[in-house]
Amino acid sequence: MFLLKDGHVSNSITHTIQIIQENIRQAAHRVRRDPSGVRLVAATKTVPVADLEEAYRAGVRIFGENRLQEAQQKRQVLGTREALVWHFIGRMQRRKLKDLVGNFTVLHSVESTEQARSINAVAEKLGIQQAVLLEVNVGEEASKGGFTSQEVESGIEELDRLPYLKIQGLMTLPPWKENPEDVRPYFLQVRQLRDRLARQTWARVRMQELSMGMSHDYEIAVEEGATMVRIGTAIFGEREEAVSLNPVG
Ligand SMILES: *Cc1c(COP(=O)(O)O)cnc(C)c1O
Repeated sequence: MFLLKDGHVSNSITHTIQIIQENIRQAAHRVRRDPSGVRLVAATKTVPVADLEEAYRAGVRIFGENRLQEAQQKRQVLGTREALVWHFIGRMQRRKLKDLVGNFTVLHSVESTEQARSINAVAEKLGIQQAVLLEVNVGEEASKGGFTSQEVESGIEELDRLPYLKIQGLMTLPPWKENPEDVRPYFLQVRQLRDRLARQTWARVRMQELSMGMSHDYEIAVEEGATMVRIGTAIFGEREEAVSLNPVG
């Protein structure tokens, strides 16, 4: 269910996705961005497979999961589908890295240099390169994982030397604000960090992606440069189970 701006309600996932894609297009146009530079990642924690199926039929091609086991079960049921990819957007426990690396196209939420080294080591064993984003804890909240902006800047040189990582950009989960306009300064801060890093020359790091914006604030995120928005509730409705936003998976 999705509350439309005119006060009507959309009950179909398909219709809701069309509306969200249109909102993304309009937000991009407002700041003269090409809307094709923004990808929709459907955040699917606790969402039943039938709803994922409908989202796929409506054109969604990236599912972002928070928990390994839940993702594995859904993938088994859905099977391989043309052009469908899975991203991991939740916190990553050390002992699960061996199952996460190589099984998700992008890991959005690398939270420390140590974790990056561990992912690099698993990827080396598998003989692959793993695409990742560095999570920036832009509000420096104790409840959230991630690098501070300063830690990214001071740590990136070492990360650039890890040969089995493809660092593609930054991800952030900014502090919750009732008014999404109040989140804008955080998005701006992460974009500016990305831009500063992108101007430097790196051996491997490619600072292009910005994974930011959720149901509540994705249009603002797009205006501030998001290349991936992670949207759950706005597509699939409120989650029944009380889950923490970024549960350890
Ligand atoms: C659940 C989740 C989202 C989506 O949040 P909604 O408010 O439901 O759109 C985005 N990112 C992460 C990391 C999440 O855990």
